[in-house]
Amino acid sequence: MTELTGLPDGVPEHLEGEGIEALYPPQAEAVERGVTEGESLVASVPTASGKTLIAELAMLAAVERGEKALYIVPLRALAGEKASAFERFERFGLSVGVSTGNYESDGERLANNDVIVATSEKVDSLVRNGAAWVDRLGCVVADEVHLVDDAHRGPTLEVTLAKLRARVEDLQTVALSATVGNADELAAWLDAELVDSDWRPIELRTGVHYGQALHLDDGTTKELPVERGESQTAAIVRDTLHDDGSTLVFVNSRRNAEGAAKRLAAVVEKELTDDQRVELASVAEEIRAVSDTETSETLASAVERGAAFHHAGLAKEHRELVEGAFRDRLVRTVCATPTLAAGVNTPARRVVVRDWQRYDGDAGGMQPLDVLEVHQMFGRAGRPGLDPYGEAVLVTDDHDGLEGLFDKYIYADPEPVRSKLAAEPALRTHVLATIATGFATTRSELLEFLDGTLYAEQTDEAGRLASVTDDVLAYLDANGFVERDDDGIRASETGHLVSRLYVDPMSAAEMIHGLREADADTTPLGFYHLVSRTPDMYELYLRSGDRETYTEILYERADEIPGSTPSEFSEGEFEDWLAALKTATLMEDWTEELDEDRIAERYGVGPGDIRGKTETAEWLLGAAERLAGELDLDCVRAVRDARKRVDYGVREELLDLAGVRGVGRKRARRLYRAGVEDRSDLRNADKATVLGALRGRRKTAESVLAAAGHPNPEMDDVAADPAAAPDAD
Ligand code: ADP
Repeated sequence: MTELTGLPDGVPEHLEGEGIEALYPPQAEAVERGVTEGESLVASVPTASGKTLIAELAMLAAVERGEKALYIVPLRALAGEKASAFERFERFGLSVGVSTGNYESDGERLANNDVIVATSEKVDSLVRNGAAWVDRLGCVVADEVHLVDDAHRGPTLEVTLAKLRARVEDLQTVALSATVGNADELAAWLDAELVDSDWRPIELRTGVHYGQALHLDDGTTKELPVERGESQTAAIVRDTLHDDGSTLVFVNSRRNAEGAAKRLAAVVEKELTDDQRVELASVAEEIRAVSDTETSETLASAVERGAAFHHAGLAKEHRELVEGAFRDRLVRTVCATPTLAAGVNTPARRVVVRDWQRYDGDAGGMQPLDVLEVHQMFGRAGRPGLDPYGEAVLVTDDHDGLEGLFDKYIYADPEPVRSKLAAEPALRTHVLATIATGFATTRSELLEFLDGTLYAEQTDEAGRLASVTDDVLAYLDANGFVERDDDGIRASETGHLVSRLYVDPMSAAEMIHGLREADADTTPLGFYHLVSRTPDMYELYLRSGDRETYTEILYERADEIPGSTPSEFSEGEFEDWLAALKTATLMEDWTEELDEDRIAERYGVGPGDIRGKTETAEWLLGAAERLAGELDLDCVRAVRDARKRVDYGVREELLDLAGVRGVGRKRARRLYRAGVEDRSDLRNADKATVLGALRGRRKTAESVLAAAGHPNPEMDDVAADPAAAPDAD
């Protein structure tokens, strides 16, 4: 580690203390190419081969030079995880900040941090809102940069990188990527050095299970018999257990993850010792303690038997418990959707890619996964230093499929990464932002900026970007978001606001239209519908039978919804309207204080989805509130109340109480029942009543009273009033 220079004193020794005694070859190559001296770099390296350390070295060196560093994470859920990992360098005087939460806020708070962790959406928004610290950046890291290929989120990452690089001269750009087909193009785009390697810290064997054997990439086969009535995956899991290993099984949906975990638990259970059962039971208890939802129970009962599932619908605490128990080798099989492959570092002896196809509505059926995705799953096989090697296996029961799988996933290279920027929704958003922030004041400046994107690097069709850009400008003009004359293009007041609010201009146009039509009949449900029908909200799907149900609700409640119902004959539009209504009724149930389990069951979603939807609604209603204010509309207050109700998940009478820190929807209801109806009641409340209503939890009662401004919140010698306890009614 002596070759490391330019870092704060003590860093190499600290890394050695963590077991990093020598750099991995791709890391050493990155250092040789100047990553600790401010050189830009694209590192295209397999999953789990130490990309994070390359980024850490670059950021530490930047901070040592007195600059700030920004780390762009691919998923919001990973921001906290990455930030806590970087916090281990705080002893070297470096401070870490995470940017989450509302898009518009917390720009300045971050100015004091040396390292900032955020999603590309958040960075984009901070730039739009004029965060001054951006100019003090010396280094930006883009984790999983191959995601610029993602149709939905890729363009924001692409434009954000282009914008930061246009704004800060000589900005060091460190882009981490899975192995892709065209890493050289990414490096050319970012004017960066390239480390393109397929080195791995542990040998990876890949293969396909077919029949009674595992066919491996080196041409050998290994007997792996499947018993009667057993699935191939079950046979592989059993075989791995006999070899004292764990298995990670990738499937294509949450429901499949849960189903497979349940079935594979039967296999694992047979191999457990009594001690293991006791330990697993205690993990299961922790899982049940997180929440009393059906998902929680399903997970706990699989974990008791040594298996688990992992998907984005799980609560964060559940995910962490599963990852921890898997790392501790208590849970021996995890069935996961691909989110686990994307970021969570939870390796296993064996990886089984059971589902290498996934349903794709746009393509109208099952489609094979990208090679890149499958390789990322493969990458989770083998724990360096613990396993002799890792093994990644695809499964087929079709003899003809065997060769096909080898050709597609084992011998072939991953696809090249392609920019998705030319899609209209993406350009609409980013063109407005580029104009509103003053990055471009004329059409030609706009095109010049777009020329710094990967799209421009890749496209041969010279006129295409210009012509889509012109369409987008015409749309923004027609909706009053930009003004054009001979001198150039400016954003209007509304256009500026839309850009800062970080909503798709089409969402803003829809909301403005609806808000102008809101009247005394408009209810919170109407506002939930308004935001649910914008392109920024993923609506719930209509399942069979839903069409009738929601058509009926629609005709009963059409007056409450601002805007005019589309005709039943315009198929697509009407369907969308109904799907928005279904989404809006979920919001309504949430604000009517229905239990999360009941909502989950009624709409066929997980607790994580309920939170996701209500968070999006809260954000969009916040945007609607600002737009209504800007346009001087009467509905501002009504929108604000609807927003707060979604935020807290309560009926109107609890709005004040639920806003007290530490209270929340359930506690607010219990306090209300005990006669404590608002913040000022709480400030003057009888402590025994409060303690009773909060189920005798002293610490909670004290912090809640303190938050409400109670003069003397200590509960030391207070006894809970049983009449106020939740079971009393
Ligand atoms: P990637 O980001 O490429 O998927 P990670 O950065 O998560 O991979 O690294 C995987 C694991 O390897 C981590 O647990 C990390 O601590 C460990 N690691 C990284 N570099 C080294 C090294 N040079 N020596 C030993 N372990 C390392």
